[in-house]
Amino acid sequence: MEVFECRGCGTALTAPLSRVAFPLYAGLQYGNGVAMPVLMASGTYGVDEDPDGRARSIVIAPGDAHGTDLVQRRELGACCGIDGRYGPNVTCAGCGGKVATRIDDCSLWQATWLVPAAVRPVPAGPARPVEDWATVTDRRRAAGLSEADGRRSIRWDVEAAVTLAHLVFAAGDAPLAPAAGPLAQAFRPLLGQLPPPATLPSAPARRAVLAGPGRPLSDPLPDIAVVPRHPRTGESWPTPPGVAVAPLAAEFWTSLAFRDQRELAPATGGLPPGVERDDPLPPHSRYAPYLDRWVFRSVLNRLNGVAGTADDCWW
Ligand SMILES: [Zn+2]
Repeated sequence: MEVFECRGCGTALTAPLSRVAFPLYAGLQYGNGVAMPVLMASGTYGVDEDPDGRARSIVIAPGDAHGTDLVQRRELGACCGIDGRYGPNVTCAGCGGKVATRIDDCSLWQATWLVPAAVRPVPAGPARPVEDWATVTDRRRAAGLSEADGRRSIRWDVEAAVTLAHLVFAAGDAPLAPAAGPLAQAFRPLLGQLPPPATLPSAPARRAVLAGPGRPLSDPLPDIAVVPRHPRTGESWPTPPGVAVAPLAAEFWTSLAFRDQRELAPATGGLPPGVERDDPLPPHSRYAPYLDRWVFRSVLNRLNGVAGTADDCWW
């Protein structure tokens, strides 16, 4: 683990943190006017690196910032909070140097972005062990595709857009055929929001299936495997040669893979002994599936090697 300290005076600026994979959608807007959750889990940090491995930015959960002050100033143009357009707004409590930017405006992830040139990591105890695949895809880690009260899951929306971009990229010019069941139920409504594919009618569909711990691939091998992505390392579950990979955040992969194996509560009263009923009911969203176009296009551009921003991705 590491603590980030001020380069100017050595003041500790964060709690001990473990590095995790940098979220691909960290800097992207979600919808319009949406109150957003915290991007990073407490106790973790992510680093956006340039092609040479240098840190462009370091992101942490706001609650993990210690020994800092927020600059009180007018933030003209922001909406419900601070959008960071005026640069760093968090100072070191020791020397007053600007060390980070706190962002909490609507439709932007709640986060504190450390200024790489103003901080440095120092060791703070042994790294937490990397959990194995069986642990990160444990059914108890499954995350619903909507919140428990039926509200939209923002995290699912953006993670689904990431995976959909991988699916579309892997399918190339061919139609995409997600396997019937949870995969098709989750992704067909999103595919339906894309522009009509420029596909030759005769091109055979590319078959995509769920694969991972407890879900081995079987013959015939599919064209594309939707596999879990490790929350710590960002690595995808390994697949055999010839099978394209579409990674999905492990907690959502687990939700799709084991949806039919939810633990049911035994019924009491009124029903015959031994009968189980589907209680609690599977969570259903109160909203239509939402494709986050910014995330989708941003990831698809990156997979295609297209430089640029997601600003022009509205269609
Ligand atoms: Zn300082």
